[in-house]
Amino acid sequence: MSDKVDKIYDVLIIGAGASGLFLAANLKAKNVAILEKNPSAGNKILTSGGGRCNITNRHISEQNYLTDGKFIKKALNAFKFNDVLDFFKNIEFKEQKESQFFTKSSSKSVLNTLLQKINAKIFYNTEVINASKNGEIFEILSTKGEKFYAVNLVVATGGISYKRLGVSDIGLKIAQNFGLKTINFSPALVGFSVQKSEFWFKELSGISLNAKMSVGDKNLQGDILFTHKGISGPCVLNASLFWQKGTISINFLPNFEPKNLTQGKKQLTSVLPLPKRFVLEFLRQNNIQDAAFSEYSNDEKAKILELFNYRFAPAGTFGFDKAEVSKGGVTTAQIDENFQSKDIKNLYFIGEVLDVTGMLGGYNLHFAFTSAKIVSNALNKVY
Ligand SMILES: Cc1cc2nc3c(=O)[nH]c(=O)nc-3n(C[C@H](O)[C@H](O)[C@H](O)COP(=O)(O)OP(=O)(O)OC[C@H]3O[C@@H](n4cnc5c(N)ncnc54)[C@H](O)[C@@H]3O)c2cc1C
Repeated sequence: MSDKVDKIYDVLIIGAGASGLFLAANLKAKNVAILEKNPSAGNKILTSGGGRCNITNRHISEQNYLTDGKFIKKALNAFKFNDVLDFFKNIEFKEQKESQFFTKSSSKSVLNTLLQKINAKIFYNTEVINASKNGEIFEILSTKGEKFYAVNLVVATGGISYKRLGVSDIGLKIAQNFGLKTINFSPALVGFSVQKSEFWFKELSGISLNAKMSVGDKNLQGDILFTHKGISGPCVLNASLFWQKGTISINFLPNFEPKNLTQGKKQLTSVLPLPKRFVLEFLRQNNIQDAAFSEYSNDEKAKILELFNYRFAPAGTFGFDKAEVSKGGVTTAQIDENFQSKDIKNLYFIGEVLDVTGMLGGYNLHFAFTSAKIVSNALNKVY
């Protein structure tokens, strides 16, 4: 047996991503290691926020997450947006629209800060394929056949979106091996592909407009962007979080009253506060001429009024390759307030691997940091 195999770590973290690194940066324990399948750390941190990392948000509540409301509410109370900013106080942030904090420079500053603050050995190119527990000690196995031992095991392996960044669903497999319930990952914060009836959306590729969307009992407002595959943009990405299957509705005219449709002899393209290309394509799709609203038949008027409540069922999403996050994961019912398994002592889950998914706006990184901080608080009482 080599030295490495004989060593028992106090804390072993699987995954050198946002949550794993934040945990390591906050631990007092000296005998800590991180196992990372990639040759470098923090791929998703680097790509986040278009390379500028939307790190947190001034306004955070359980409303911003798809998960068990009580569980997330408690966690969010333990670590606020200004705690995140305080941790990264060497970095300059800019508060942008929707109270989102982005780095002024680049995501690299976030990753570098984390790497400077950690006091743990990182084993790169070490892909974990199994974890078991023998008495009080966890045994972790890598693809290379290496074994690692630890008293505390923290699973911080994230979700499976953006495969090209090197991802895996090992977190779910480990949870299942230990008898925890999991929900299969599915793509979230992602655009919708469309069925034939909405193929006209594709003709509008490049157009962006402000709209209201209703998905189930969630009402959202923001920009939607037409693409050559369907629809995307912030409002759609948030809608994808709450969409299961079935019909959604878009109000393309959130700030316009139907009573203002009739404006003398003015044609619809001049009356509607929408891009002309959009209105013409909508009319063409429905075999309606551009005319004054009063000149339309009742059927045509009814069609035009659909712009206030355009109902359709997306074909699906753009998939994991385009999804910013994965919804689903290890269910929180079996996780205690310290993010420890209620049944398996010293086994922790943090970050996106949990069934906690945030909306667009810094909520996912915020949760990665919050969950990590809570675990560090618990472990720092012991080490
Ligand atoms: C394009 C894009 C933009 C985004 N922008 C934002 C944003 O601006 N703001 C925001 O809040 N969120 C954003 N997110 C989401 C955010 O990046 C993630 O939610 C967050 O990084 C999750 O942190 P995590 O630690 O749980 O997982 P990750 O950061 O994904 O880390 C998991 C780590 O585990 C490693 N790993 C996986 N499997 C194994 C294994 N078998 N063995 C060893 N190691 C393994 C991975 O290689 C990875 O390093 C974005 C995501 C994407 C893809």
